Amino acid sequence: MSNELLDGYVGRFAPSPTGDLHFGSVLAAVASYLQARRNSGKWLVRIEDIDPPREVPGSAAEILAGIARLGMRPDEPVLFQSKRVHVYREKCAELLAKGLAFQCTCSRKTLHGASTYPGTCRNSIYLRNSPASIRIRVENCTVCFQDGRQGSVSENLHETCGDFVIWRTDDLPAYQLAVVVDDSFQNITEVVRGADLLDSTTRQLYLQSVLGLDSPVYTHIPVATVGGQKLSKHLYSDPVSQQNPVTLVTQALSFLGHSPPLITDLDKLWQWAKQNWNISRVPPVPSIELEQVSRIGA
Ligand code: GLU
Ligand code: ZN
Repeated sequence: MSNELLDGYVGRFAPSPTGDLHFGSVLAAVASYLQARRNSGKWLVRIEDIDPPREVPGSAAEILAGIARLGMRPDEPVLFQSKRVHVYREKCAELLAKGLAFQCTCSRKTLHGASTYPGTCRNSIYLRNSPASIRIRVENCTVCFQDGRQGSVSENLHETCGDFVIWRTDDLPAYQLAVVVDDSFQNITEVVRGADLLDSTTRQLYLQSVLGLDSPVYTHIPVATVGGQKLSKHLYSDPVSQQNPVTLVTQALSFLGHSPPLITDLDKLWQWAKQNWNISRVPPVPSIELEQVSRIGA
C-alpha cells in the first residue's frame, strides 16, 4: 500500500450478478460496509458482470435494490465491469507484449484435468486461428500475506496452479485480472470478502506485483454453510428481498460475532453497528454452519 492511500480508507463490495442476493453476499456487504464506516472511509460497490454465460438477467438490479433496502449506500456511483473490458484487454496485451504472459491453446481435454498447468505452451509459437486463452507466467516463488482474520497464508503458485488464465478462450477477461485492475483503479485499501475467495488472493497479489500495482490489505470473513456446503441460490436461499431488513442485518451481525440488542428500527440498528463494529470479533475461521448461529441467536 502506498503512503498516499494510508490516509484514505476505501473498501468495496463486488458481487457477480449470477443470482439473487442471498445471505452469503449480505455478509460480505455488511462486513465491508461497516469496516469502511468504522475507518471513516468510503464504501464502493462494483458489479462484476464480465461473465455473460453465468449472468442472470435482472440480478444486478436486484442486488443493488437489495443492499439499498438493507440501508447500505455506496459513496460513489456503482462501477460496472462490463464497461471496462477494453481496459482489461489493454493490460492483457501489455503483459503479452512484455513476454510476461503467453497464449495457450490447450484444452481441458489435453490438460487431462490437471490442476497445475504443466507449462505446455510457455515457449511455443502461437498459431493464429486456433482459440487461445492467455496465461500469466508464474515464477517459482512463494507468495505470502497476513490476512485480517485468517492468519498468515503462503503459497507457491508454481506448485499449486502454475501459469494461470487471465484471458479466457471465449474471449472474456478472467476474474483474477479484472479484479486486480479495478481494485487498483478504485484505490481500494482493504478487501473484505468471503473466505471462499482466500485461494484467489495469492494469485491476485502475484498479478499486482507483475503489473506494478499496489496491493490492498485482505480480510476474509467466514462463509455461511449448511451441511458443510456454501450457501448458493440453490441452497437455503430465501430471497433476501422477502425478509425483514432489521432481522436480516441483525442475523448478519450475530454471524459476524456481534451481539446487537433488540432494535426494531433499521437506522438505529445501523447506528449501533457503526459504533460497535470491531473486525476482531469476527470469528477467525473459514466457515460457520448457519444452524449454530441461529441456535445462538435464538
Ligand atoms: N465477484 C466475486 C464474487 O461475487 C467477488 C469478488 C471479490 O470480492 O473479490 O464471487
Ligand atoms: Zn497450453
